[in-house]
Amino acid sequence: MSKKNGKRDNIHQCEKCLPAFCCNYFSFEIDEPEDRQDYEILLWKLAHEKVSIYIDRNDWYIMVNNRCNFLTSDNKCAIYDHRPYICRKHSTENCEYSGDNYGFSEHFKSYDDLLMYIKENTNHRFRQEPTGVRPNCV
Ligand code: SF4
Ligand code: SF4
Repeated sequence: MSKKNGKRDNIHQCEKCLPAFCCNYFSFEIDEPEDRQDYEILLWKLAHEKVSIYIDRNDWYIMVNNRCNFLTSDNKCAIYDHRPYICRKHSTENCEYSGDNYGFSEHFKSYDDLLMYIKENTNHRFRQEPTGVRPNCV
């Protein structure tokens, strides 16, 4: 979220980051699941493409991997001078480029990831075996 035509916060790092990781998703906090129905709803969400769920410092989030309409084909921000606050406060320091797991304690990238977590970490009995469906994101 730090690119501008010809001017970047850290030109070398952002130029190597293709496509710009930080401009290809958004996420928002959700309630921690408490019962079986809550987990079933999260499994249903993970049945959809480009959706993952992660836990960061005990808080649960949904991540949607979706490209911002203002990311240009040459990896720049088309509205740099008017970009939203969340983009303006984003820094190249400790950004998504630093690693693929973002330091999350858990990152469920597929239906099966969460199914196995439920089986291993909760008392809810799910008889379903892993589906083999591919991860929704890398
Ligand atoms: S508005 Fe610009 S900086 Fe923000 S996500 Fe979109 S392309 Fe990236
Ligand atoms: S994730 Fe980091 S390196 Fe990549 S474009 Fe965004 S700020 Fe630049």
